[in-house]
Amino acid sequence: DGEIPESHPRYESLLTRHRIEEGVDKGITSRQGLIAQGRGEAFDYLLGERTLPSADDAERAAAAHLLLAERPVISVNGNVAALVPGETVELGEATSADIEVNLFNRTDERMTAIADHLCEHGAGEVKGLTADGRIPGLDHERAKVDADGIGDADVVVVPLEDGDRAEALGAMGKTEIVIDLNPLSRSAQAADVPIVDNVIRAVPAITEHARDLADADRETLESIVAAFDPDEALAAAERAIREGSDADAAED
Ligand code: ATP
Ligand code: MG
Repeated sequence: DGEIPESHPRYESLLTRHRIEEGVDKGITSRQGLIAQGRGEAFDYLLGERTLPSADDAERAAAAHLLLAERPVISVNGNVAALVPGETVELGEATSADIEVNLFNRTDERMTAIADHLCEHGAGEVKGLTADGRIPGLDHERAKVDADGIGDADVVVVPLEDGDRAEALGAMGKTEIVIDLNPLSRSAQAADVPIVDNVIRAVPAITEHARDLADADRETLESIVAAFDPDEALAAAERAIREGSDADAAED
């Protein structure tokens, strides 16, 4: 958008930050979302602002899970809506997944603003506004979901989900795909498929894998799912952070 020269060494990171600022201005992203962004930037910096081979494996496993699912749902919060609205719609189309707005600090204004924003980026139906379902074990506001959306889903993609809700969704028996740059966060630890990567890179990457696997048979998809090890994915990300940029590449 003209303001940041593409030659800037941290161009992508600055562009991302700018999109979050715009999201706050538009009433899509919360002030807590700004803090989450700052945390994410720090971890992305430590990971070398790239997709680790282990994260790419997780993105492929996520695509396989979504293609095998009967009722897959992608959860969208204020950061995801600001950063990857069109890419989220495309992922939904590539995997026949519903999109549901799901906020940590739920207000009707922000729910509507995000749903409208997603529709402007090509979404047909956006769930989350009905809020006739509940996640057991959470307080009232944070438990709200659509009964025929996340409430009834077998596979959920929860980017940047808060730790409590990630654990509660897991306890409901759902297969959880978490996108979170912090491999130590409870959300990532609770996931069946933790994707330690920036949503900016992860969402399009899952879509690409889903398109690549579109004609694969169930057996192939199931073997991709079975071969994925969440603990190993988290350990690889942690190694990359501790040992620098070559550790992950050397071992994969
Ligand atoms: P908990 O341990 O309860 O999960 P938390 O440290 O995750 O707590 P939050 O600040 O609510 O607390 O979570 C934000 C998370 O989202 C952080 O782990 C951060 O690294 C991650 N994050 C922020 N921006 C991005 C992004 N663009 N892509 C992927 N992950 C992101
Ligand atoms: Mg978290």
